[in-house]
Amino acid sequence: MNSFWLDSIENKTKFNKLEKDISTDVCIVGAGIFGLTCGYYLSKQGYNVVILEKEKDIASKTTGHTTAKITSQHNLIYKYLIDSFGESMAKKYLYANQDAIENIAKIIEEEKINCDFERQDSYVYTNNLDELEKIKLENEAVNSLDFESEFVTSTPLPFDVLGAIKFPNQAEFNPMKYAYGLAKCITSSVSSVIGGSGNSGSVGSVSAGDGIVENSTGGDSSVGAGSTEDGSVGADIVENDSSNDSSERANKDSHSFSSNSTEHNNSFSINSTGPINSFTESSNKHINSFKVAKGIGEIYTDTLVQNIKKENDEFITLCKDYVVKSKYVILASHYPFIDRLGYYFLKMYQSTSYVIAVDIGDKAFNGMYINSEQPTFSYRFVNGSNGKRLLLVGRYRS
Ligand SMILES: Cc1cc2nc3c(=O)[nH]c(=O)nc-3n(C[C@H](O)[C@H](O)[C@H](O)COP(=O)(O)OP(=O)(O)OC[C@H]3O[C@@H](n4cnc5c(N)ncnc54)[C@H](O)[C@@H]3O)c2cc1C
Repeated sequence: MNSFWLDSIENKTKFNKLEKDISTDVCIVGAGIFGLTCGYYLSKQGYNVVILEKEKDIASKTTGHTTAKITSQHNLIYKYLIDSFGESMAKKYLYANQDAIENIAKIIEEEKINCDFERQDSYVYTNNLDELEKIKLENEAVNSLDFESEFVTSTPLPFDVLGAIKFPNQAEFNPMKYAYGLAKCITSSVSSVIGGSGNSGSVGSVSAGDGIVENSTGGDSSVGAGSTEDGSVGADIVENDSSNDSSERANKDSHSFSSNSTEHNNSFSINSTGPINSFTESSNKHINSFKVAKGIGEIYTDTLVQNIKKENDEFITLCKDYVVKSKYVILASHYPFIDRLGYYFLKMYQSTSYVIAVDIGDKAFNGMYINSEQPTFSYRFVNGSNGKRLLLVGRYRS
């Protein structure tokens, strides 16, 4: 069965497979929304970036199969966050997500990405008496964080609800169109940086040149990716900085990187002198790798990363036949495949959701919805070629 989003892209950009050794500032593993967003911001800031994707297409895994609601409303999470981590942490979570919505809106506007972005109110509703009290308490919790959510008893849904919490001015989009828009921005920096060098406009090719790029003033680290609708996080940055505040660290780093700088802070690195998993010695022969030009982003698909190794100050990302050397590595693979960093394989479980798109004629309504109890039902509309379709998700945990 195909994904509505995947099928919605016409004239797809073709990306190449990695077919030589290269070196770069930042190697990003995974071209879902998280990897592409990191690639976008970093290439804008003058880093040269290589994104490696195992599938033949970008964003074709989780990102291409989501409801694509852009919201800070992650079911009933804020009372829990306040109770568990305190008000200050809950506020950080809320406003990081609010910033992410605005950052996505800003990227779409500035880069003119046509991805069906629409502002929508977002609702968590219930028809269960036990849940009603939780929704009221959640609304009070959110209000205590200075956010104007609202407890409502009527919604645009075509059925009655006992109550709902409404987050105003959230958003929805087509994640595949957005992903291709980001990819174009990342790779088209080639033409603005070294236009006319023969690489202009090509995707996934490697330049031996050393172009010059101007630093942009952007760089907010709220990327709006990596969380599920119920708030769990699914991507990791490899790091050894003792600070827990990655946004502060990212800002610090962005200051220390100028377009002409050849010195880099090594604040993102694996806290290990040895290989992460077993690693063959084949990397030693990959010495004369091509250098990706400054500020240029490259995306390679059909390129499975098998391992990552730290050698002196460099990361070596090992694919089947070739390697990418880099100062930094970002694991944006959704499921971490490097076990030693957190033994994730012991903690992960599979959760299955079923999503269908339904033609309900002229009965489309505004808003994005999810119920608070299990089993989960989530709704929003999408623009199909013959009008709006209701996107309906039912989640079952297995
Ligand atoms: C049914 C459903 C509904 C959702 N609804 C929403 C929603 O409404 N709003 C929201 O914000 N979030 C939602 N989410 C969550 C959201 O979709 C994900 O959090 C987000 O798409 C994850 O993006 P990602 O880039 O981290 O992962 P992915 O999109 O999975 O990208 C990771 C990429 O890494 C690649 N990769 C993995 N291993 C390797 C390797 N070894 N080498 C090379 N490449 C590799 C994969 O092929 C993949 O393309 C939903 C998720 C689901 C399942």
